[in-house]
Formats: sequence, structure tokens, C-alpha cells
Amino acid sequence: MAMARDIIMRKKGIDTSDKIFVTSPSLPPLTEFNKYLKDIWQNKKLTNNGKYHQEFEQKLCDYLGVKYCSPVANGTLGLILALQALRITGEVITTPFSFIATTHALHWNGITPVFCDISPETLNINPENIEALITPKTTAILPVHVYGNPADVDKIQKIADTYGLKVIYDAAHAFGVKVNGDSILNSGDLSVLSFHATKVFNTFEGGAIITNNEKMKHRIDFLKNFGFADEVTIVGPGINGKMNEFQAALGLLQLKSVDENIHKSKIIAEYYRQRLADIPGIKFLKDFANTRHNYSYFPILIDKAGYGKDRDEVYELLKQNNIYARRYFYPLISQTPTYRGLPSASSYNLPVAESVAKQILCLPIYPDLTFRDIDRITNLLNNKEI
Ligand SMILES: *Cc1c(COP(=O)(O)O)cnc(C)c1O
Repeated sequence: MAMARDIIMRKKGIDTSDKIFVTSPSLPPLTEFNKYLKDIWQNKKLTNNGKYHQEFEQKLCDYLGVKYCSPVANGTLGLILALQALRITGEVITTPFSFIATTHALHWNGITPVFCDISPETLNINPENIEALITPKTTAILPVHVYGNPADVDKIQKIADTYGLKVIYDAAHAFGVKVNGDSILNSGDLSVLSFHATKVFNTFEGGAIITNNEKMKHRIDFLKNFGFADEVTIVGPGINGKMNEFQAALGLLQLKSVDENIHKSKIIAEYYRQRLADIPGIKFLKDFANTRHNYSYFPILIDKAGYGKDRDEVYELLKQNNIYARRYFYPLISQTPTYRGLPSASSYNLPVAESVAKQILCLPIYPDLTFRDIDRITNLLNNKEI
């Protein structure tokens, strides 16, 4: 059977042995990057706020439409630093439906995570559930814009203002996302981006902390450099969170192609939606109103009752056909050994998150994914022999 199909697919020019991963990093032409390498080799400034770091910082602010940003070595250090900069302690309300680093950043600061359930429509933290989790120890809310879909920032801010809480957004997925023309990164007290290789915009590894407060920007710059304000003044227990010149140089080149990449991914997402529209038991998210998305993930929800197979069976089927979809985010953060003992990690507290984690599957999406690749993937989901 499989062999017969391989032969038919080969005749059509489709090679089933080609592996398709959930994402594939975008890179500029090597010759362009070599020019920067040559210059760095000549002037021997490798890190510590060099000229490419300064230029990247400015161009990044311009591109994103934000006032200040501090590039950092990676998104996880960005989150850890953001919590330090705001002196967050005690308990922080967050979502269990995210990459593990969101909660690890709290743990590394000695903060107790308090898990809040998610909305079934947006898969983001459900603002309706936040207030019931607030205690005298609560100091902040740490929501995530999951898959780059904006969290309900207005409702979250209203709760934060009422209870005197800070809001830090894990915006690792939200590069370039805008609502009504305004960057989503301008919400809350601080937002943290990731420029990891798997993200829509990469600097190999990297990230940035976004703020519209100049003094806070300086404080973050001190903290990411061990706490040094000048040669002899160390303002606090900082860390080494600096972005180096190689990352910044790559970032400068990546900024030139990111809009085109997002545009290509948008066309891919639209084609997926068209191909998956009539499959019973498979759901996907639509674009949000007045939102500029970045289309860096294509999550689907598989309901066994409607579809006939469960999520793990679909994951295996795709894998057997060399398509490496990913179960982002499964297991939930609240189900991992480090956090499952917390009272807020109980199933009773997180019914929506637990149900979504069993159904979610992220299909491959990246700028160079072809329609033919998508046909290969969606035909498998449609139980079609190609
Ligand atoms: C990727 C990611 C991070 C961590 O970023 P790194 O740059 O890899 O350290 C944090 N939160 C979320 C939601 C992520 O997807």
C-alpha cells in the first residue's frame, strides 16, 4: 500500500521521503552576513553594547512601533530580567498553556506560579478566571499571547489596575503583531520577545524586553549587564543577559525580510484554512478582528468524537509520512513534575486547558512551505490517497 502510494506520488513529483518539520528558520544570504563578520573581525568589538547592538535596538523599536527595547541573549533571560526589574515577588497568575519557559522564569525568581484556566476561543488566559485566584501575596499577572494571538489586554489591565498588580506579557510569539495599528507589545508594564531560531524572527538565539518607560529601560540595561550603571556603580544583583554583536548583526539583516516572510505565511495559513474547512472534528482559529497576525503557528484542534481519530493518532500518522507536526502545548506546564503539586495545578481549576492540551496539534508553517506540501499534509488529514 505505502509503496504503491509512494510510486504514484513520485510520478506526480511529490517525494514522500522529504521531511517536513513544524518550522524552518529563515536566514539571509550568507554573503550579506559575511560583510558584518568581516567588520566585526576588523574592529574586534564582539559584545557589550557595540555599534550593531545600538543600531539593531533603534531599528527594532522603529519596526515594532515601540518606544524602548533592550535586546537580550534569549527570551527566557528576558522574562527572568523583566520580573527582576519590576521587583515581582510572592505569587504571579499565569497560564499553563504555554512553553515551559514562561513558568520557569517565575521559578528562577523564587515566585510561586498560580495557574489560571484559558479561554476556549482564544486559548489565552481567561480574564474571567483571574480575580478568583488573587490573594494578598499576588503581585503580578504573566499572560502569554499564545501563537501570537493577542490576549485580552483591556480586561487584564482593568483587573491589574483594580488590584494594584503589574502585568508582564510573554510575547515570545507576538513579534510584529498589531491591534488597530498599535503594537500589542505596548500593553502592560513590560513585554518580552524571543528571537529563538524557531520563532518568526530569529537572531540565532535572542530576545528583547519592551517598555515605554525610559527609566525602566535603563534599569533593564543595568540588570542585563550584571547591574553595572557605570564602571564602579553596581545597582543590584544583575545577570549576564546581553545580546552580542553577531546576534544584533543578524537581526539587522532579518528585519529586511520579516514583512515578506509574514506575508508568505499569511498566504499559507489561508490555504490551510481553505483545505481544512470541511473536515468534521477539526477546528482551527480564525484571524482576530482588527489584528495584524504574524502566522508563525498553525494550530488545529482534533475532536475524536467528530473526526474518528484522536490527536496522538493523527500525530503518529503524519510522522509515519515524514511530517513532523508538534503538540504545542502538551503536556500542560501544570502537569510537569516541577509544578503539578501546586494547588492551582488541579484538573478542577483547569478544565479548558486540560481538554485543549489533549486536542491541540501545530501543523508545519514557515515562509517556504509550498502548496504542494500543504496538499500532502491536508490530504492525509482528509484520509485521501493522493
Ligand atoms: C520560545 C519561548 C520562550 C523562550 O524563549 P527563548 O528565546 O527560547 O529563551 C518563552 N515563552 C514562550 C511562550 C516561547 O514560545
